Amino acid sequence: INPILENDLKAAIRTIPDYPKPGVLFRDITTLLGDARAFRRTVDEMVQPWAGMKIDKVAGIEARGFILGGAVAHQVSAGFVPIRKKGKLPHKRVSIAYSLEYGLDEMEMHEDAVVANERVILVDDLIATGGTAEGAVKLLQKLGAEVVAACFVIDLPDLGGADKLRALGVQVRTLLTFE
Ligand code: AMP
Repeated sequence: INPILENDLKAAIRTIPDYPKPGVLFRDITTLLGDARAFRRTVDEMVQPWAGMKIDKVAGIEARGFILGGAVAHQVSAGFVPIRKKGKLPHKRVSIAYSLEYGLDEMEMHEDAVVANERVILVDDLIATGGTAEGAVKLLQKLGAEVVAACFVIDLPDLGGADKLRALGVQVRTLLTFE
């Protein structure tokens, strides 16, 4: 994206040191979401490569991926699919274990949320190690979806997550990077 816009969006993101634990620089997008212009431009930029293409579903990762993903789904005229932490979805589910910094967690999707060969875009706010997004891609692929792309506002390239997704054959779009 153009460097002026990248700087504007970066300026709309708040950084909280040592949250949720010492040593972490938490990139808080609630300030960006609260800024009408920054929110709109973020969503416009996220969907830009897929304007006019047939996308069946947008899958958002709980919780910040729901906010961005809902707006992206509207923009590309697709349905929205929530990918949630274990135990939150009421109907029949498929689940997958994924790696966190320490240990494993599980995420789930309704088994009828996508059908085979649907074209899906995955959305979250930030990609770090890529463990979360990789789990989500695998869950979607389990149901036969074609994961066309994964979009994030923020990339932490030092942690290698975007490369991990590209190695799975998924196109990755990120708008800005932080060290
Ligand atoms: P990862 O699985 O390591 O790629 O982590 C990505 C997930 O953790 C995303 O859902 C992010 O919202 C969250 N996350 C990881 N690191 C940060 C950070 N520094 N600031 C804000 N959110 C983060």
